[in-house]
Amino acid sequence: MVRLGNWIEPFPEGIYVKPADAWVDPSQPKDRALVTHGHADHARGGHKAVWATPETLAIMDVRYGQQCANPVVYGETVQLGEVAVSFVPAGHVLGSAQIVLDYRGERVVVSGDYKSRPDPTCAPFVVVPCDIFITEATFGLPVFRHPDTGAEIDRLLHRLHHEEGRCVLVGAYALGKAQRVIAELRLRGHHDPIYYHGAMERLCTLYETLGVPLGELRPVAGAKKEELVGKIIICPPSALNDRWSRRLPDPVTAMASGWMRVRQRARQRNVELPLVISDHGDWDALTRTIREVAPKEVWITHGREDALMHWCMLHQVKARELHLVGREEEEDD
Ligand SMILES: [Zn+2]
Ligand SMILES: [Zn+2]
Repeated sequence: MVRLGNWIEPFPEGIYVKPADAWVDPSQPKDRALVTHGHADHARGGHKAVWATPETLAIMDVRYGQQCANPVVYGETVQLGEVAVSFVPAGHVLGSAQIVLDYRGERVVVSGDYKSRPDPTCAPFVVVPCDIFITEATFGLPVFRHPDTGAEIDRLLHRLHHEEGRCVLVGAYALGKAQRVIAELRLRGHHDPIYYHGAMERLCTLYETLGVPLGELRPVAGAKKEELVGKIIICPPSALNDRWSRRLPDPVTAMASGWMRVRQRARQRNVELPLVISDHGDWDALTRTIREVAPKEVWITHGREDALMHWCMLHQVKARELHLVGREEEEDD
């Protein structure tokens, strides 16, 4: 019997789709790349041709310059060789997609990164039944259970309103997390201007251009210290403890990340107010998604593979680790 998915070949640098002669999220420059989303561990510059959603392509243009681009909107199907390729929302960041590959009666879904929780900045995750579901496992341990996002935002607002003469400085990755925190704050009724570090500007502007309203945003540069009292300021995690933050009025240091569930990680960054807000599914979401997708096989790309492998075994789903390299956690959680 022919092995299921024998037309898909995982390499350390990405997933090769043989009959399409194309790579999914390759970490090295390739002739034909299918890109799930704009995070740097999935989208690299230097490919000859890129297939991705228009939003992901716009993000890649901002980061790497103009791409030789083939935009594919959600739900559209393009033919690459004998493979029908379509892009379906992954709910991870703006433009993020699961890539659905159909070839000779077999369907493989490469989910990239995904989450099933509502996110005001992107289209919700769609369950696509398939033969092989290729999943990440960033938070693939039973200890990872993300709390309710609204409750985390409320903790942030509570702190802001009860600290005399201070501001709250929130570390958040520049693509996705920063815009999501801002949009979630607006949903919870916070309509004050939100200040940002210069590194956030281009992607916040791009989100607004692509139809994600973020309310009134102002750059920290140029603002007087007194103006920042009682305000929320968003910056990249790397700026939380550097010289830049010294100009701010006695900041409460916060950080929005799924990793804030781990106390040691919060301590490493001197985070006073850890906010567990993640753009990945937690353990319950990962296992629920696998049940809903109901694939014959699960292939695991990166993260904590062991526990998820074991769970699949217990639930009679064949599972396999792919050992992709270059999938960092750094900007992407
Ligand atoms: Zn990732
Ligand atoms: Zn990502």
